[in-house]
Amino acid sequence: NARVLIDGPSELVFDYAIPDGLDVRPGCRVRVPLRRKSAGGTVLSIAPADGQADFALRELESLVDPEPLITPVLLKAGEWIAGYYGSSIESVIRSLLPEAVRTEENSAKTRRIALLTNAPDETALAKLSKRAPKQFAILSLLIASTDGRMPVADLGEGNAAALKALEKAGLIILEAEEVRRDPDADSADEILEFKPLPLNPEQAEAFEAVTAAIADPQNAKPILLLGVTGSGKTEVYLQAAQRALDLGKTVLVLVPEISLTPQTVRRFKSRFAAIQDQVAVLHSNLSQGERFDEWHRIRKGKARIVIGARSGVFAPLPDLGLIIVDEEHENSYKQENPPRYHGRDVAVLRAAFEPCAVVLGSATPSLETWHNCQTGKYQLLRLDQRADGQSMPLVRVVDMRLEKAKQKGGVAILSDKLRTALEQRLEKGEQSILFLNRRGFARSLQCPACGHVCQCPHCAVALTYHRTDERLVCHVCGHQAIVPHKCPECRAPSILLQGYGTQKVEEVLAKVLPTAKFARIDADAMRRKHALRDTLNAFKSHKIDILIGTQMIAKGLHFPNVTLVGILNADLGLHVPDFRAGERTFQLLTQVAGRAGRGDLAGEVIVQTFTPHSPSIQYSRKHDFDGFAEQEMDFRRQFSFPPYAHCSVLTARSGHERRAEFTLQTLHLRLAENLPDGMVLGEVLPSPLIRSHGQFRFQITLRHHRARGLTNHVQSVLARTTLPDDVTVVFDMDALNFS
Ligand code: ADP
Ligand code: ZN
Repeated sequence: NARVLIDGPSELVFDYAIPDGLDVRPGCRVRVPLRRKSAGGTVLSIAPADGQADFALRELESLVDPEPLITPVLLKAGEWIAGYYGSSIESVIRSLLPEAVRTEENSAKTRRIALLTNAPDETALAKLSKRAPKQFAILSLLIASTDGRMPVADLGEGNAAALKALEKAGLIILEAEEVRRDPDADSADEILEFKPLPLNPEQAEAFEAVTAAIADPQNAKPILLLGVTGSGKTEVYLQAAQRALDLGKTVLVLVPEISLTPQTVRRFKSRFAAIQDQVAVLHSNLSQGERFDEWHRIRKGKARIVIGARSGVFAPLPDLGLIIVDEEHENSYKQENPPRYHGRDVAVLRAAFEPCAVVLGSATPSLETWHNCQTGKYQLLRLDQRADGQSMPLVRVVDMRLEKAKQKGGVAILSDKLRTALEQRLEKGEQSILFLNRRGFARSLQCPACGHVCQCPHCAVALTYHRTDERLVCHVCGHQAIVPHKCPECRAPSILLQGYGTQKVEEVLAKVLPTAKFARIDADAMRRKHALRDTLNAFKSHKIDILIGTQMIAKGLHFPNVTLVGILNADLGLHVPDFRAGERTFQLLTQVAGRAGRGDLAGEVIVQTFTPHSPSIQYSRKHDFDGFAEQEMDFRRQFSFPPYAHCSVLTARSGHERRAEFTLQTLHLRLAENLPDGMVLGEVLPSPLIRSHGQFRFQITLRHHRARGLTNHVQSVLARTTLPDDVTVVFDMDALNFS
């Protein structure tokens, strides 16, 4: 049988019998009978006929194209994803093939062109000009054109009869020509060619290792390029990409998000400006037609460098020589809908299947990747120096507990030190960035006087404050505690920390620095199309002195005139109920600090915090990834967290609170039966975001050192449990989001 996804918005899936002699494979486009009509569809999977129900199945009508849309390597990767993440192969194939490609309505766009075959001589032309002025006009245009061919649309209106007559007379040919819907056609950015830079010794060594992997992928390991911010990783990517192209291979570049990494995308475009039409950028806002064209350009090998975000990992490039995953530690590589794959991990897998070289780059690699280097699965390459010869920015930590005491009530937003530093930059005509991480909605309790945070005694994560039942709950093990009215550490009477956001910062700045010009970048301020690009351009041309932003500004921006970065509340991400809180904070602080001093001027970073002693802050201050990783890995090992175990979340949600909870309790009982050796099964708990979109949510976390063991155990329980209609259960393997 073939399971077929029918074209169209309703996404129907039906089984069909395969007629004898038809070579139907997953990813093939087919025509099938649907009610009394015929419809287009894509084969998702082939199941062996199970005899029984077969008599009821209707037969496929025909194959539209004998070649499947999915290459064998991608099909193999798809099967791996389905098994590893516990998703159906149907949902995997669906994300492998963009809808724009699966649906028959989309097709190549064509235009009619006229081709001059036989130019008449002067006298014939003169005659024609009197007898048939329209035909004469058309011929004159064609004769004057450079290669005797022009789009019919450019030959004037109301010409149909004249064209026909010319064709009949054997003077021209009319034919159809495919036109590419170029997503960049109206782009305002001009692309200036940017020539390769001579590599410094560290870069040269890394480049050699990457090119060796490109030349002999069979025997190469995945590579981690660990380079401090500004160390010139991008230059290494660019030259390695050039090498792959020189060898006749293609290159896939993954970035966390296209719109948030405009500078990286631009650098690739500039380096390969001479072969611009061979570069494809898979923006999320491509129209269906553009997506269709880009996909087929890639498939045919016309686009030889593809830049995309997470789903770009499925770009159907032939002869793949190199995959680059920039900022490999970024969470946005994890898909939050089924199939919940991790783009970086799929990239590594695809590279092994192709085989091709794969380079993961970061200044702050994920501990999963770091662990793979330490066990020898990945090869580690380092760039420890900034490429432009600048030193790393000087980082000062300001203890906000002292500021708080000075201000008497209210929250201190700008410390004296940061305010003075901002004033100095204004005077000197230099620019600043202020960063506020507002991530995390679940509040933890922190004492503003001593910085103490209420933590779970069993799990070393912050306890979460639940307003409804006035309790503190551990979101890993379920430990509960009453809400203290005084700080357990210093006995200060007010322990709830008041939050503030970027808008409040704007307000304060306007008061404190009335002459400064500033702009805000966050999800609220950037709703308008091109708002982000326009604001960044204004900042670049120094129409703005101070840029205030959330993590949207943490990635890959490069502004030579920025000499000061202020981090307003470094603690905000630290006390969310997530064992990765420390790692995320370290990554974010390091990335943000890396925005300072990227030109000829030295950079300074001021970090405001209530917990100046925390490792995330101290190690990022010293730009010490190794030190941070060492202590963080100790903690992970001690509590069996990733990378020492795989951690997954099983979530049940429903409009009925009790039903969601009860369903998960039933699943919990069944999961506890025959629990595989060493698997840690958490309790049923309300999700930190207990109610979302009107749905109540409960969750269980599971940990195990074997990924397949974990997925298989959960899948086998799910397979023999009938769920109530109004409860949705979701399994997230290698979860990154515990909310
Ligand atoms: P990263 O990607 O590691 O943060 P970048 O690639 O952005 O670092 O490089 C930082 C700066 O150093 C850029 O302005 C880049 O043009 C410059 N640069 C990179 N490599 C070299 C080199 N070999 N010589 C001189 N400048 C370089
Ligand atoms: Zn706990």
